Amino acid sequence: MKILKFGGTSVGSIENLQKVKDILTTDGEKKIVVCSAMSGVTDQLVNLVEYIKLKDADAITRSLHQLETKHHNVVDVLIKDTSIRNGVKEQVSLTITEMFELSNQLHVENLSARIVTYGETLLTYIFSNFLTAVNVPNILLNAQDFMHVDSVENPNIEKVSTRLQEILDKEDSQLYITQGFVCKDHLGQIDTLKRGGSDYSATIIGAAMKAEEVQIWTDIDGLHNNDPRYVEGTNPIAHLTYNEAAELAYFGAKILHPQTVSPVVDSNIPVLLKNTFDPAAYGTIISNKTHKKGLKAISAKDGITAIKIKSNRMLMAHGYLRRIFEVFDNYHTSIDMITTSEIAISLTIDNTSHIDDIRKEIEGYAEVTVEDNHSIICIVGESVINDHNSHKLFEILNYIPVRMISYGGSNNNISLLVETKDKIQTLRFLNEKLFLTHKEAVI
Ligand code: ADP
Ligand code: ASP
Ligand code: MG
Repeated sequence: MKILKFGGTSVGSIENLQKVKDILTTDGEKKIVVCSAMSGVTDQLVNLVEYIKLKDADAITRSLHQLETKHHNVVDVLIKDTSIRNGVKEQVSLTITEMFELSNQLHVENLSARIVTYGETLLTYIFSNFLTAVNVPNILLNAQDFMHVDSVENPNIEKVSTRLQEILDKEDSQLYITQGFVCKDHLGQIDTLKRGGSDYSATIIGAAMKAEEVQIWTDIDGLHNNDPRYVEGTNPIAHLTYNEAAELAYFGAKILHPQTVSPVVDSNIPVLLKNTFDPAAYGTIISNKTHKKGLKAISAKDGITAIKIKSNRMLMAHGYLRRIFEVFDNYHTSIDMITTSEIAISLTIDNTSHIDDIRKEIEGYAEVTVEDNHSIICIVGESVINDHNSHKLFEILNYIPVRMISYGGSNNNISLLVETKDKIQTLRFLNEKLFLTHKEAVI
């Protein structure tokens, strides 16, 4: 069995949904297909949650009306059979009514997760019926029946596996369609796998089913060696190890949800990144095999806060770092980068919800400076610190004020901390220096 996931753009228009159908019908292999919402829909639903909280009745009605029209328009063109088409449109309207009713119940548990996951519910319903209408037999699975992960960070794969297998045993098919993004928490409440979480849904399902492979279909031909949104002339990487892909995803490569890789590492299931608009392109294969050592790719993670903790008492004293780390631990705040000197320590966090408490506690014995709006630039590749080109990255110091550098924490990652306003220049400079070495750097 293979798991195929199609992202927002891939299912975002009538034309693209036809392409997805073609990809699914090239062979008769057994598949579970995980779909996102149509592109833009989850953003709209996130806004809708805000209108609900503000009790803005006009905005709620407008927003639900737009969602209904958008999905009806797709059904109108996609499904030729009149009776199937009318039935699907009616069901879309019923779902919109359900959302409207929910929007009047502010006290409902997990209202936000319930609302934002409707995008996947609507799209998979339409897509499954479209496939049926063009004689592609399939079964629509409700992910809420089996994605009982308990914890988003550490999903209970066994539980998902047992539930899903029970369902599949009852309803045999070569093709199943289900929703990404949605899950249930340890209380059985609807939750989400966080923005971009359908990638993670696919690998959780892949691990639960011990799938042959997981394919993530998107709008680009694999994971590129730099962020194509900011840098021109990036290239897809044919092979990545799980570790390399996990680092790049965690440190901002938007093509993958940060946790995508973790569920499949132990069972050694390959993850293929493929382009819906160019299925013949090789894409990227993520597996446990190392094809090439050295520098592979650069990514950037925004929303980083740098904290400098300075105290003369640190000089020659032991136990100081433990005391500082304990404060972060007590507030469940994880640290990404660290550098130290004799009397100061600088570190970064991305979750600032407890920053005031942390600051107050540490200010009892040290001077604390907090600077937000930073980005971590991550240079990744197995043994990257031994790559003969890597030294060139330090030339960046001539051009950009680098706040921190982390080198040697592992062999596979070098990280720089810069102000977010300097992120794009840094990515471009590093691209020139590290990948296009024959050219002079232009920033
Ligand atoms: P989907 O909706 O299919 O999940 P995403 O928008 O989440 O797609 O991810 C694909 C996008 O990720 C690409 O269009 C590209 O702009 C962006 N991206 C950022 N960094 C990278 C990278 N290193 N390689 C490939 N794509 C990247
Ligand atoms: N639809 C969700 C989002 O936009 C999940 C996903 O696309 O992976 O975040
Ligand atoms: Mg995505």
